[in-house]
Formats: sequence, structure tokens, C-alpha cells
Amino acid sequence: MGSNTNSAVCKLCRREGAKLFLKGERCFTDKCSFERRPYPPGQFGAGRVRLSEYGTQLREKQKTKRIYMLQEKQFRSLYDAAIRKRGVKGLNLLRLLELRLDSVCLRLGFADTMNQARQLVTHGHFLVNGKKLTFPSYTCRIGDEISIRGDSDKISVIQAAIENAKRKTRPDWMEFDEKAFKGRLVRLPEREDITQPITERYIVELYSK
Ligand code: SF4
Repeated sequence: MGSNTNSAVCKLCRREGAKLFLKGERCFTDKCSFERRPYPPGQFGAGRVRLSEYGTQLREKQKTKRIYMLQEKQFRSLYDAAIRKRGVKGLNLLRLLELRLDSVCLRLGFADTMNQARQLVTHGHFLVNGKKLTFPSYTCRIGDEISIRGDSDKISVIQAAIENAKRKTRPDWMEFDEKAFKGRLVRLPEREDITQPITERYIVELYSK
């Protein structure tokens, strides 16, 4: 993606009207395209039309899928799992999204972006409870311990992430051992722990039609 502030990835944020944090460190600097131009890309971007109720619900779903990099089928099956659980549907959905192994690795600071977290999980660089796990869709549980595999910390992309991670703050629902550089889930995320720009009610309304 290079240093182009108007990259394809950043256009997604501008189109969704929210920061989706898809470019790692850059998202927290004044180079963020959305900070510079917080309106949709294109000739008529600045004069965005008002969305219908259905349009708003659809956009919210698209935005959430983009944040977590999920295809419709994967997203829908997570939603179906969320409504089968007891409790508030929207919060259940957000929890299942946050508890995916790739999301957890990102929140722990083991990667800089969701895309990078997914690739590193798939390539077997992380251990869950001491065992290599290569499924980004694995739903982490309370008590799971996530660490970097043996010599994976010698890989430059992980080294860079580790350096960045030293400056990052982690959600309260996980514990982090700075010395061993491993994390543990101590509880489920509550609504206030989830800082992604998502109004989950719209997604529930959309799928309930
Ligand atoms: Fe680009 Fe990140 Fe800003 Fe989105 S939040 S526009 S991905 S720099």
C-alpha cells in the first residue's frame, strides 16, 4: 500500500464514514486519510446522500465485516451462533468477533493489522495453550493463553509488531505478561470494552427482517 494516503484500504474508511483501523500504526498518526478527508471518495463524495433505514443497516454490516475482514458466509454463521446463545444478540455477536483468534492476537499487539494477524495465525506463528493453532476463526475462551511460537519472534514482521506492542494498551479482558510476551483471557469482553465504531443494533435489525 506504500505511503499513498489515498490507498484503496483507506478509501474503505472514507466510504464507511468511520476509522476502521486497517493500516496499523498509520491509523494513529496525522497521515490517516480519514482524518484528512472525512468524507467518501469520488467526485461527489463530500455531498453524501442520506441513507434509508435499510441502507444504514446494510452499511453497518458491511463496515463490521470489513473491520474483521470476514466474508458474508462467515459473518452470517457467527451471527447465527450469536443468536443461539443466551443474552443480548448484538453483544453476543461483538464478543464472537472479538474472541476470534486473529482478533485476539491483534488486541494483544502480536500484529499491527487484522490482515497481518490473520496471516501470522495461518502460518502457525502463535500458540494457544502451548499448541500451534492455525485457524483464525478459533473462538478463544476464558483462560486461554496465547503466545508467540518458539523462533517466530525472529521474523521481522513479528519483531516490528513486538516493538509496537510495547507502546500499546490492551483491553482489560486480557492479561499480558510483558516478560514472557504472552496473553491470557481473563473474562469475556463487555460492551464498553469494545471500541470499534459499530452500532450492532443495526446488524441485528437487518438480519431480523
Ligand atoms: Fe487509513 Fe487507518 Fe485512517 Fe482508515 S483509520 S483511513 S485505514 S489510516
